[in-house]
Amino acid sequence: MPSTKKDYYEILGVPRNASQEEIKRAYRRLARKYHPDINKSPEAKEKFKEINEAYQVLSDPEKRKMYDMYGHAAFESTQQQQATHTTHVSDLEEILRDFFEGGFGFDFDTIFERATRSRRERRRPLRGEDIHRTVEVSLEEAFRGVTTEVTVYREVECEACGGTGYDRSVGVRTCPTCGGRGQVVQRQFIITISQTCPTCRGDGVIRERCRVCGGGGTVQRSEEIKVRIPPGVDTGSRLVVEGKGHVGRFGGPPGNLYIQVKVRPHRVFQREGDDLYVDVNLTFPEAVLGTEIEVPTLSGNKVRVKIPPGTKHGEVVRVKGEGMPRLKGSGRGDLLVRVNIDVPRIGVLDKVVGDGRKLEKLLKELKDLLPEPERIVER
Ligand SMILES: [Zn+2]
Ligand SMILES: [Zn+2]
Repeated sequence: MPSTKKDYYEILGVPRNASQEEIKRAYRRLARKYHPDINKSPEAKEKFKEINEAYQVLSDPEKRKMYDMYGHAAFESTQQQQATHTTHVSDLEEILRDFFEGGFGFDFDTIFERATRSRRERRRPLRGEDIHRTVEVSLEEAFRGVTTEVTVYREVECEACGGTGYDRSVGVRTCPTCGGRGQVVQRQFIITISQTCPTCRGDGVIRERCRVCGGGGTVQRSEEIKVRIPPGVDTGSRLVVEGKGHVGRFGGPPGNLYIQVKVRPHRVFQREGDDLYVDVNLTFPEAVLGTEIEVPTLSGNKVRVKIPPGTKHGEVVRVKGEGMPRLKGSGRGDLLVRVNIDVPRIGVLDKVVGDGRKLEKLLKELKDLLPEPERIVER
């Protein structure tokens, strides 16, 4: 059996004809000795893994039978294919299944799954996996749009072997298990089952693994990918860079790179969809008499905004078209100027205007002049 893996019987230290009970005892003894919680030596972890793998196979009569027949190769192919699933059930399988399960209680899946899966599934084109990244931008960047570089670790085709996983500088040799036929024949009672050879998986030849990628056909590579963030993006916007995910297998297309956008909060503007809020302070007389103020916008320009007389605290004055660009569609949202009535403190006024006393006196007069408002606010 061409394999560099250690023999499962050797790992557990039992003879090839050991009983299930002997195998279980050997496993328990070794597991106690090498359990990583107990054994802190650096090789214990690896050893423990080895022991478990060996036990999983040898403790299962069907798996053990397969192992005795084909060695490690019996599981290499099934392990690789566990990710995919076959739903197709051929008529032949149905018939054989009835025959074995009905008549002899034979676990049929082990043999048949491998026979039907191997060749067909291995060559089916698989789309590469997608890569997901989050990119943070400032509100200004979201306003103007920005081109940014994203570093991704992509699985790309191994150049050394052209994605085949085989070392092309070394020749191929005929598979010793099937003698180059790609099929092995097994007799079960009166029926002969021809199945795909587990050693060469139907190829009939054995190739050397590519040393660069270890046989996987792909290598990891760090790549800087330019991403254009369009004007108007918001937190939660998702952009796609097609084909910049991981490489596909067996001729399948590559996956995509998905960029999740996050817009950082701004110290002045607060975003609400395509609209922007800006809070402005007004004095009480300004709010009563009305005024005109200058308000900044995200485009960098300033706009003059008329505050009508009698504007209340919390009221909003809308400036059309000075909000965020619309990601879908054209034009821009609005700028919403929200009024805050600034209430000064006498002590602070002393520092600002020099003499808060005069102002205090005026305010007291004003207080006497103003009618008492409705105390309770009705909605
Ligand atoms: Zn073979
Ligand atoms: Zn390679």
